[in-house]
Amino acid sequence: DASHAALARRILTDKFGYHSFNHQQEAVIGRVLAGENTLVIFPTGAGKSLCYQIPAIAFEELDTTDGSRAPGQSGISIVVSPLIALMKDQVDALQSRGIPVASMNSTKTYEQQQLTRVALQKGQIRLLYCAPERLNNESFIENMKTVPGGVRLVAVDEAHCISEWGHSFRPEYLKVARFAQEINAERVVCLTATATPKVADDVCKAFKVDSSCVFRTSPYRPNLHLYAESVQQKQDKFEKTFAFLKSQPGPTLIYVTLQAQAESLAKDLTHQGFHAEAFHAGMKAEVKLQIQDDFMASKIPIVCATIAFGMGIDKQDIRNIIHWDIPATVEEYTQQIGRAGRDGKASHCMLYICHEDFYIRENFARGDLPSRTSLKALLEDIFDEDAVLLPVDGVIHTNHNAQSKDFDIRLSPLSIIYASLELRFGLIRAITPQFTQY
Ligand code: ADP
Ligand code: MG
Repeated sequence: DASHAALARRILTDKFGYHSFNHQQEAVIGRVLAGENTLVIFPTGAGKSLCYQIPAIAFEELDTTDGSRAPGQSGISIVVSPLIALMKDQVDALQSRGIPVASMNSTKTYEQQQLTRVALQKGQIRLLYCAPERLNNESFIENMKTVPGGVRLVAVDEAHCISEWGHSFRPEYLKVARFAQEINAERVVCLTATATPKVADDVCKAFKVDSSCVFRTSPYRPNLHLYAESVQQKQDKFEKTFAFLKSQPGPTLIYVTLQAQAESLAKDLTHQGFHAEAFHAGMKAEVKLQIQDDFMASKIPIVCATIAFGMGIDKQDIRNIIHWDIPATVEEYTQQIGRAGRDGKASHCMLYICHEDFYIRENFARGDLPSRTSLKALLEDIFDEDAVLLPVDGVIHTNHNAQSKDFDIRLSPLSIIYASLELRFGLIRAITPQFTQY
């Protein structure tokens, strides 16, 4: 629809100050405005947020133009967002652009929530960000059902996280889908940076997304330089990290698996004269927000974090991502390195691996390298084809990245798996080298 497209472009320039759409943003927005359910799989930093923010802003004007609804009857758009840090980031950004937005999550006082409810009933809010646990809350559901004009759109941001909300992700998707149905959402948009074909398929089934409404772009980012280095023992990672940070200054995220490791690493770095802070889910909400803000403002250059940090964090100039521990999945790795170099400048992603790491992973509840059989299944899931695990004679030299060889990002997830396989099993060498995903 030409009038929809013109309106979307006008909002892009007037409200967001951008000249043109990225990637397939315009196509997605077209489908959303046409009332279709969509699945958006764009890499981190590609601009997924606008895919629902622009429609959410557009509905009111479309209603006025075509006279289909009375003023104040344009309803709201709900954004289900898995992390409070992510929510705050987006809400602040929209507020600064003068867009009527609110959020509902556990950091809000009762009074704040009451004010939001009143504003919703008065039709004063266009976008409402909420945490996933709201979807189980009866009074929240009632509130959503009675908003004047109803719910025009439910956006499920970082949709791959749905799988982390519960033990088994299928029922969780269904729960979100039921919620959308119960509140009579006109359309649903699911967004994620990474989805295996299987997950994408499940999401499409749960939300009734037509295959013509699945949008996917390649995660290839030419400015990211990827390295993997294996070390004899964990201890060796300190020296390597210090040297790396000295040679590659700039905003840095160091990902670790365990909360205690985040703390001790931040301390060790501080002793070495770096300014580093820890960030993990075990810390107080105020402290976390402060660290996040200070990192955004480049007052803290280095954050040692667990997976709890970074989702949706929109800092343009992150120069380094260091993986102190091996990420649980290739998806997680891709997501985390995707936070580097959004300004397009060269950025460095270093993965340190040692034998010990796999024991930590195994003890970890969601460890993804438990057995040969499930590893094979995991690989097949990721690469959507038969993974062939070939035993190789004799001792394998574990470090096929010994010279910190630069990898093409399309090959790097595979290189991690290679390294993991070699270290974990000692004798597995080859996986079908052709794959289409990355
Ligand atoms: P994602 O959710 O896909 O990781 P975001 O929605 O957070 O990405 O967007 C990343 C950055 O790109 C943000 O700073 C956003 O404002 C910017 N951006 C999005 N779309 C455009 C565009 N069409 N032109 C310029 N910048 C854009
Ligand atoms: Mg996002």
